[in-house]
Amino acid sequence: MDRHPYPAGMPNRSPFLLNVADLLGTDASGRSVSFEEFVDWKLDLIKLSDDEPVMSDIMLHPVSGGIAATGWVSFVTEETCQRCLKPTRTDRRATIGALFDRTDDDETYDLDGHEIDVEQMLRDEVLLSLPVVSICGDECEGVVDSAQNDLNTGASDDEDESRSPFAVLKDLLGPED
Ligand SMILES: [Zn+2]
Repeated sequence: MDRHPYPAGMPNRSPFLLNVADLLGTDASGRSVSFEEFVDWKLDLIKLSDDEPVMSDIMLHPVSGGIAATGWVSFVTEETCQRCLKPTRTDRRATIGALFDRTDDDETYDLDGHEIDVEQMLRDEVLLSLPVVSICGDECEGVVDSAQNDLNTGASDDEDESRSPFAVLKDLLGPED
């Protein structure tokens, strides 16, 4: 990957790394954080757009043993429509609900000291929300080819000239002199 996923000027520290010392073990109602970052997350057939940032609003809540994160993430994907095979872009949105703690539980993310890294959580929520099959839209008519046309019209090999589209064109243009 040539392109660094984070903007220049933040060479070392990931913007997704959050210090939550102010929340841990308190009864604070929570704190919201927002992100607008370019990322290079992708699956085999679908990727996040290079020119649209991932946007996310997350509310961090102190809970027993860690931090709960709730909110949403919106993003734009680039994929190939699997019905018409054209490249397409789609605005998408996923909800977030995750727990950060100090256990080894696979269901939760790590609370490391006073920090949580929400990148893996966002990436998981984004990638898990993607469809298995991408279609460019409800109106997609699929691949149109001549074989399909033949099937639809029931045209046979002994088609005469009067039925061909060129014959119709000739009529419209008038007789040749
Ligand atoms: Zn399509």
